[in-house]
Amino acid sequence: VSFFQEIPQAAPDAIFHLTAQYKADTDPRKINVGVGAYRDDSLKPYILPVVKKADAILFNDETLDHEYQPIAGQKSYTTAAAKLILGADSPAFVEDRVVAVQTISGTGANHTAAAFLKKYHKQGAICLLSKPTWANHKAIFNNVGIEVAEYPYWKPSTRGLDLEGMLGALEKAPEQSIVLLHACAHNPTGVDPTKEQWQQIADVMDKKKHFPFFDCAYQGFASGSLDQDAWAVRYFVQRGFEMFICQSFAKNFGLYGMYGIPEIGSWTGMINLTTGLSCLFLGERAGNLTVVTRTAQQAQHVLSQLEILQRSEISNPPAYGSRIVDLVLNDKALYTEWTENLKTMSGRIIEMRERLFEKLKQLETPGTWNHIVDQIGMFSFTGLTAPQVKVLKEKYHIYMTENGRISMAGLSSKNVDYFAEAINDVVR
Ligand code: PLP
Repeated sequence: VSFFQEIPQAAPDAIFHLTAQYKADTDPRKINVGVGAYRDDSLKPYILPVVKKADAILFNDETLDHEYQPIAGQKSYTTAAAKLILGADSPAFVEDRVVAVQTISGTGANHTAAAFLKKYHKQGAICLLSKPTWANHKAIFNNVGIEVAEYPYWKPSTRGLDLEGMLGALEKAPEQSIVLLHACAHNPTGVDPTKEQWQQIADVMDKKKHFPFFDCAYQGFASGSLDQDAWAVRYFVQRGFEMFICQSFAKNFGLYGMYGIPEIGSWTGMINLTTGLSCLFLGERAGNLTVVTRTAQQAQHVLSQLEILQRSEISNPPAYGSRIVDLVLNDKALYTEWTENLKTMSGRIIEMRERLFEKLKQLETPGTWNHIVDQIGMFSFTGLTAPQVKVLKEKYHIYMTENGRISMAGLSSKNVDYFAEAINDVVR
């Protein structure tokens, strides 16, 4: 008998499946607003100019090698990443109570944090997730054996935040629950609490001794300002919370995956895998788990345990993507250029929101659409229903997730009018 005989076929991942359907569609008008990766106005993947520069510097740096990294990653990288989110003048830094480990992008940071909490947080503690949230959150916590529950977040009637529902659920949850919060640019809704609302959330969390678990996948990408997008996290630090912060450099550096064929400077390489130049396939996936504790000693204890966990899971993190981030964060000129690249990306997204909103208004599309411009980040929760989403796909070759979420990055100056006209048709 075969043990594998018992293993059922799993359903394909919804987003990856959607992309496959989109690719197979031969209609020239087709639009993919499903996937959450940035595209430029020609709908092409965008390599940040600053990343190209960093690539060239690294490629020509003869001091670099392909040795193992430290278990927690390079200190220059983890510290710069932690400073980026907390602010270099954060009281947590001054008091030496911040530690960090490099992770496999944001997903890895979530996983490492969840695995650590399973081991060390109060036995049986649940993790509260926003309803809705990034689809992977539930799976990540369930995989390590932490049960999840939901707090209300999206209010369909206002297409905004259900603050009362959220506060009520946090109030009702058992003390010392883990509460997952999106630091900025909530995925999938694009709805973030205001500063006053964050204060109310912090009040309840403080009262109930909940543990803030910030997931920060869009710093700088949301508003175009790294500081503005870090406001909520810094506010919680100021209030004295200890916390986890999961950082991803996938979106804000455009480092989503693997870089296969480098075209660096004047050198364009044909790669022969048999020559041992496999190092030219560069693992990027750069993330960081930043931990803020109450005391300096706690911070060191936590780091030592995180290193033991990391050793058993990935041994040590991949070097290449983190080298790019390290270089840019620690070099004044490159850093400045990066902030400009961030403005290019966030600016295009914001412009697409405005163009879509204006066109819907011009078409006198039934319903209110100001949420399109009020929401922030890559995604917009349109309020379109599953049947409408289906018609958009079948009649207009427009691909989006069933919940009506669209990635603004799939729109361009060339397709936004067609997109608006399609919406205008399906909601009538
Ligand atoms: N968390 C949220 C909310 C996200 O939207 C994403 C990406 O879509 C991630 C984490 C992690 O992405 P990655 O593992 O590519 O950094």
